[in-house]
Amino acid sequence: MIIVIDGPAGAGKSTTAREIARRTGFDYVDSGAMYRGFTYLYLMHEFDRSRLLKNLADHNLRFEFHVTDARAFHGDSEITDEVRSDKVNDYVSEVAAMAEVREAVCHMLREVSKDRNVVLEGRDLGTVVFPDADFKFFLTADPAARARRRYEELIGKGDTQITLEDVRRNVEKRDHIDSSRNIAPLKKADDAVEIDSTFLTFEEQITRILQYVRNKPEVKNKTNT
Ligand code: C5P
Repeated sequence: MIIVIDGPAGAGKSTTAREIARRTGFDYVDSGAMYRGFTYLYLMHEFDRSRLLKNLADHNLRFEFHVTDARAFHGDSEITDEVRSDKVNDYVSEVAAMAEVREAVCHMLREVSKDRNVVLEGRDLGTVVFPDADFKFFLTADPAARARRRYEELIGKGDTQITLEDVRRNVEKRDHIDSSRNIAPLKKADDAVEIDSTFLTFEEQITRILQYVRNKPEVKNKTNT
């Protein structure tokens, strides 16, 4: 079974998708981590787009997803933290706009989700990658709330340099690039359920999603809450 949660940066997709995974026992799949992995390679290739694309087939990236645990590797090195660096943040939308990279990630996402119960988060999962997903949600919140949440998350992780203004600019820039790119722009699928979390508590948001999911008989038997 496939549950997808799409939406803009900072809407709370990853905490939400992880919590849904925790409560259902499904595996959480982070599609952004894959774009971030390719961005890590782009930085390694010194921003040389043709070198990145030339080596795309031998990317040597690997992702492991198990319930709430999502890890990224390049060869034998774990790069889970590296793919979330400020530098990667700054370039990821540029890399995610490359058609060849999108194709590679789309393929990896379909492979990793084959014959599994997964909850995935991203931007184009309901529209492009999994048009037949069992459940599609589109999570939004107003831009100021999203910037504040992302800022608090970074501060919580010990980033002492970042300012709220830096985060707001990064969120706005990514929103703009993600929604205006030609290929697979950030967009709500027509059949997705939209949830605006600006004025919802986290628990209300989770309950709303689980209400839909639990109405499906095969999920009722599997959920472990
Ligand atoms: O979700 P996260 O912030 O980690 O995603 C990083 C970036 O990857 C996004 O800003 C977007 O440019 C790109 N992305 C995408 N399509 C997805 C997931 C992420 O274009 N399905």
